[in-house]
Amino acid sequence: MSFPGSANVHAAAEAGAAAGVFVDLHTHTRHSDGLLAPAELLRLADNKGLRAIAITDHDCADGIPEAVAAGQEIGVEVIPGVELSCSGAKSEIHILGYFIDPNSEALAAALTQFRAWRRQRARAMVERLNGQGVPLEFERVTAVAGDTAIGRPHIAQALFELGVVDSFQGAFTKYLKRGGPAFVAKQMITPEAAIELIHDAGGLAVVAHPTYGPTPGELRSLIGHGLDGIEVWHPLLDAEDTSAFTEIAREYRILTTGGSDFHGAGRSHCELGGMHVAYEYLERMHEHSNGSLSPPLRER
Ligand code: AMP
Ligand code: FE
Ligand code: FE
Ligand code: ZN
Repeated sequence: MSFPGSANVHAAAEAGAAAGVFVDLHTHTRHSDGLLAPAELLRLADNKGLRAIAITDHDCADGIPEAVAAGQEIGVEVIPGVELSCSGAKSEIHILGYFIDPNSEALAAALTQFRAWRRQRARAMVERLNGQGVPLEFERVTAVAGDTAIGRPHIAQALFELGVVDSFQGAFTKYLKRGGPAFVAKQMITPEAAIELIHDAGGLAVVAHPTYGPTPGELRSLIGHGLDGIEVWHPLLDAEDTSAFTEIAREYRILTTGGSDFHGAGRSHCELGGMHVAYEYLERMHEHSNGSLSPPLRER
């Protein structure tokens, strides 16, 4: 599968090359729409020579305990994370949470609610498909998804298995893409609420793949609401995007992060570790998380 934006892998590689130690701060497991179990993802990270990875499943923190245990055994640092889908003016805004306490009651309750909304929405999408003569049963989707944050990729896989489309990607093109005939929007919280939820769970809030998310005005407003960083290295961002968002992060003295958004072989924009993010960016996050960095501009 080929995706746009892969040229920027080289820009990111340059950013990390001096340190020689790399991390990947955006990954998905089977607990959302990734293909690998957390322990399998950790083994892959080790094979790729990564020092650390963040587990950032959509609306789910259930993969973290297995990842942490596997990471300790293998010797790869695991950052407990999450990716929250939020409502935005022009599109969804995805907020990454890092160093979250997965046992935070408020966060756990919110994630349970988000997954319930996802399940309702998946049912509504199946009904739409049925209305268009596609005989997909909801049970086939849950058989693919298991007890996870159910999403369009699980419906796409079920459609492919049923033989309704000839590829996983084809299901998005024909039915599931935003504005497609079976698309239904999720019920979502605002990004401001997501930032608060992440902070209350002891985490740092970072806006994911910012070209696909907030308007420039929304981004500045989120920074005003305590956003801790911007994901400036992501396969969907080109080198120009990376420079522009790095400049904004500098202006407001917030963090820059990056990752592959790996979902599994054949389901990803680039391979695990492919954005070559230097360990020093994770170190800055550690410092920020400990409160040992000078306060960002917004707090002055
Ligand atoms: P959802 O959160 O259920 O709306 O699903 C969004 C997820 O579907 C993303 O995180 C991607 O993993 C995947 N996705 C979104 N758009 C596409 C697309 N056009 N082709 C393949 N996968 C996609
Ligand atoms: Fe995804
Ligand atoms: Fe995302
Ligand atoms: Zn993601």
